[in-house]
Amino acid sequence: KDLIEFKVFAKTDTAIEPEIAAKICEKHGFIFEKEKREKGAGVHKVEEKYEEPPPPPKPETVEEQDTFELRAPIITFMGHVDHGKTSLLDAVRKTSVVKGEAGGITQHIGAYSITFQGRPVTFIDTPGHAAFSEMRARGASVTDIVVLVVAADDGFKPQTVEALNHAKAAGVTIMCAINKSDLPGANPMRIKQQLQDAGLMPVEWGGETEVLEVSATKGIGMENFLETMSLQAEVLDLRADPKAPMRATVIESRMDPGRGPTATVIVQNGTLKVGEPFICGPYWGKVKNLINDFGQSIKEVKPGMPAEVVGFSGLPRVGDEVVEMENERAAKRLSEERQEEIRQTKLLAPSRSRLEALFAGISDGEKKALKIVLKTDVQGSLEAITKELLNIKSEKAKVQILHSAAGPISEGDILLASASDAIVIGFNVKVENNAVATAKREGVQVKLYSIIYELFDQVKEAMLGLLDPLT
Ligand code: GDP
Repeated sequence: KDLIEFKVFAKTDTAIEPEIAAKICEKHGFIFEKEKREKGAGVHKVEEKYEEPPPPPKPETVEEQDTFELRAPIITFMGHVDHGKTSLLDAVRKTSVVKGEAGGITQHIGAYSITFQGRPVTFIDTPGHAAFSEMRARGASVTDIVVLVVAADDGFKPQTVEALNHAKAAGVTIMCAINKSDLPGANPMRIKQQLQDAGLMPVEWGGETEVLEVSATKGIGMENFLETMSLQAEVLDLRADPKAPMRATVIESRMDPGRGPTATVIVQNGTLKVGEPFICGPYWGKVKNLINDFGQSIKEVKPGMPAEVVGFSGLPRVGDEVVEMENERAAKRLSEERQEEIRQTKLLAPSRSRLEALFAGISDGEKKALKIVLKTDVQGSLEAITKELLNIKSEKAKVQILHSAAGPISEGDILLASASDAIVIGFNVKVENNAVATAKREGVQVKLYSIIYELFDQVKEAMLGLLDPLT
């Protein structure tokens, strides 16, 4: 509300000018301070009170980067069911554990880390694109690299395409593991062709997508696979500041009968420590215990690394952010404020639909994309509708189809739309029960049609801005 008064229309992840932030702080009785990044020491320190606009950035950004330390890359496996995601996750872990990293019993906490060539690498081991998009819908981007797992004897399947589209929409690095290459029916060429058709040109054909042939169960190609993942991570040059204020993202949470609400988090920045007070969504807490993926209690967790956290006041949601607080009192107070805010929002009328908001922004000259997730009854109608939708011409907007497939509208479709500010269009299809609830919760617009020209007319009208968009 305050931002709107200053004519700033920001989304939750938009950075705002320090001048504006300072004014808002003043209004609420806070002192605005700028974070200072000291060269060499790599410390985030609170600087003097903000008074003047900051000096222009020094041309030393590269050097400044150096105060940040390399962090563990975070990798997620996605793909069709039974193509071997779980087996590959096991094989990756075994490959490293065999090399003498044991010392505890492996535990499923939702993510694990291995050490490869002296560097940590983190894998999220709740495979699946629904969880991935659920996090994105919360505004969290926890994955750096997606490994698309495709069975060599089976090729692309509907869920392969779905997973690929979720990963593409997130803009992360994608590589492909052709698994089960030990099977007689293996046909890696076909999969490379399918990757190319999907816009991912394999490296060996002159493109940028790393494609590896492996066998999870026979352990073939695992070294090379790990090597390639770590090279991809190196290219990304992922850095974080272990001394910065701590931020971490919840990737799994559960009610533990003995320990109360616990959550597995991955640290984004700073260092997570035992005893630290924090806020997480509407809940607060103090880190009572940190447990790694070997079930061992640890004292601290560095950026890119996962751990299970004990000490939440309530069960956080996947994708929520854990943020370090000065002290317990402040954490508690912020938690109360957030809970009150949630109560208030529930009383308020729903905000404008995403599509209306999208079109409201169009007048500023830039060509906007109307992002669509399209589901239809059969493949034939899918192709026809896609072609026709992409043909709609408008000066101000263009259609972008994030994902399309035959079949009912699923929760995954809703989460993809929510994470990417898209709408979901269904032609002669139903919406799965859990997807209805998710659409409501996420505020995603779902439009169902059974007459084809109605579908085109409404999209066209919306695109041309002639009438109120799809209400
Ligand atoms: P997910 O559903 O993608 O997690 O797939 P799973 O990891 O559960 O694997 C499905 C089935 O494929 C299991 O029976 C595995 O034993 C088998 N499988 C996985 N990887 C390989 C492989 O490299 N070669 C062969 N022959 N079978 C595999």
